Amino acid sequence: MKYYSTNLRAPLASLEEAVVKGLADDKGLYMPQHINKLDGNTISRLKDKSFHEIAYIVARAFFGDDIEADTLMAIVTETLSFDTPLVPVKDNMYSLELFHGPTLAFKDVGGRFMARLLGYFIKKEGLSQVNVLVATSGDTGSAVANGFLGVPGIHVYVLYPKGKVSPIQECQFTTLGQNITALEIDGTFDDCQALVKTAFMDKELNNHMRLTSANSINVARFLPQSFYYFNAYAQLDRLDKANEVVISVPSGNFGNITAGLFAYWMGLPIKRFIAANNRNDVFLEYLNTGIYTPRPSVATIANAMDVGAPSNFARILDLFGENGNPHKAICQIISGYRYTDEQIASTMRKTYEETGYVLDPHGACGFQGLVDYLLSPNETGVFLETAHPAKFKSVVDRILSTDIEIPDKLKAFMRGEKQSVALKKDFDSFKTFLMER
Ligand SMILES: *Cc1c(COP(=O)(O)O)cnc(C)c1O
Repeated sequence: MKYYSTNLRAPLASLEEAVVKGLADDKGLYMPQHINKLDGNTISRLKDKSFHEIAYIVARAFFGDDIEADTLMAIVTETLSFDTPLVPVKDNMYSLELFHGPTLAFKDVGGRFMARLLGYFIKKEGLSQVNVLVATSGDTGSAVANGFLGVPGIHVYVLYPKGKVSPIQECQFTTLGQNITALEIDGTFDDCQALVKTAFMDKELNNHMRLTSANSINVARFLPQSFYYFNAYAQLDRLDKANEVVISVPSGNFGNITAGLFAYWMGLPIKRFIAANNRNDVFLEYLNTGIYTPRPSVATIANAMDVGAPSNFARILDLFGENGNPHKAICQIISGYRYTDEQIASTMRKTYEETGYVLDPHGACGFQGLVDYLLSPNETGVFLETAHPAKFKSVVDRILSTDIEIPDKLKAFMRGEKQSVALKKDFDSFKTFLMER
């Protein structure tokens, strides 16, 4: 399989090039040239298969030309050491719980898959050490760091804003040691992101060390997220509820929903997607007006979705661009909603009181999207519960007046010893630090 750049001004890349580079030379995003379809027979038999078997079928469609079968199977198995159960919340509405991995958020799936795939290419090609730079406002850093922990040939630098990450989030990437270095930047998340971007453009630094990025621009991080859409469908089919499936995705950078749209193009019978936003609603505005106007993000209680310029938007345009009118085609398959912090809190409270289910602020946007879309009685709604509520314990406890329990996995991180390097936010300090490594 070859990968092209959404900007169309870079040469086609192999899977290995696309994964090692992350972003194409023309700053576009890599897209597979073909989306292999699964036939109806395969889809209808998913219900008899395990999550590993389902994920392997999907992985083979994407990566089967480039990786031998047993290696791909091993990568899939190592990635998915946890399940994504479908939990009934209300009437025809289910929560697809994506938070049973090591850092309790859906990003574990892509983070682990990418780490193993990159590790495989490094070993196979005998590449010199690859250095992953990742800026985080909390969740991405932990999933990437834990995914890459102990993978030979890779060193990860997590840049995070001092004092702006919750202690629970911070301990998930500052206590690991080994090949993970946490850099505490005296600035904001935007400063961290700017440092990473500048580093990729710095010639001297790139001659000194091989750099790559691990956010959802990387195909190895976002494509594997389609696995659990197929797993959700299989679980619904077992319940005889797979006829009219509507999936609501709490969205920020739009990597997660793009993976769902790939599943749709592969033939997964999804009737409709809902893109649920917090107050950062440039996508909803695009749906309503056909005009896309990225802008700086605003802070909300669903902070992993505080994105004002969703990087996967270009991929969605490409997926639906064939007849020259992507806006119309996109509106036919995706609806959008946006929720303020007050609305998110009210959904969390109401759902807890009526059903006992504890939503995290991100999942709450997804759930409310289903409620507002008004499912007809024949439709089955699934929302992606993207993180365990304990990751946002202080917000959740304040809204629900609870004292929710912290899972053991998370407690284990909190007992570890924090190790991080304090750096100022100017590029020279960062560069000097890296040049000495
Ligand atoms: C990253 C994240 C999101 C947003 O996912 P995108 O792929 O960026 O749209 C939603 N919820 C949680 C908890 C996240 O960590």
